[in-house]
Amino acid sequence: MGNDVLQGGCSCGAVRYRCTGQPALVAHCHCRDCQRSSGAPMATVFAVPKAAFELLQGETASYAYTGDSGQPVLRHFCPTCGVPLFTDVTVMPDLKFIRAVSLDEPARVAPTMHIYCASAQPWGDWPDGLPHFPGLPG
Ligand SMILES: [Zn+2]
Ligand SMILES: [Zn+2]
Repeated sequence: MGNDVLQGGCSCGAVRYRCTGQPALVAHCHCRDCQRSSGAPMATVFAVPKAAFELLQGETASYAYTGDSGQPVLRHFCPTCGVPLFTDVTVMPDLKFIRAVSLDEPARVAPTMHIYCASAQPWGDWPDGLPHFPGLPG
């Protein structure tokens, strides 16, 4: 297996995925959906081109909500263990957003920013020196 292959899955092992290449983005996301679905003040996500993503095994359940663009966001999770795995964002149709902690080796992706800090919780502050954006950068 090449060093640029990232593999991951859920807690129960029903759902497994693989992606290749360098992530287009790695960020700590403080949006309310990441907070609610992770049970934590933020979730760390990375994005890869959909062409570089492959579902190896299992089926996800999904939940659709309206993103800040007004367009649907579809969050996929394991129907058995409930672990959030990846997200399809209508306004960024070429990218798959993946929860970094679902990787077998989460340390292989390195976050470079905090996003959606407008909804960050006041009791969650990380002095890591990374840039903070109120929403998405740019
Ligand atoms: Zn599972
Ligand atoms: Zn988020």
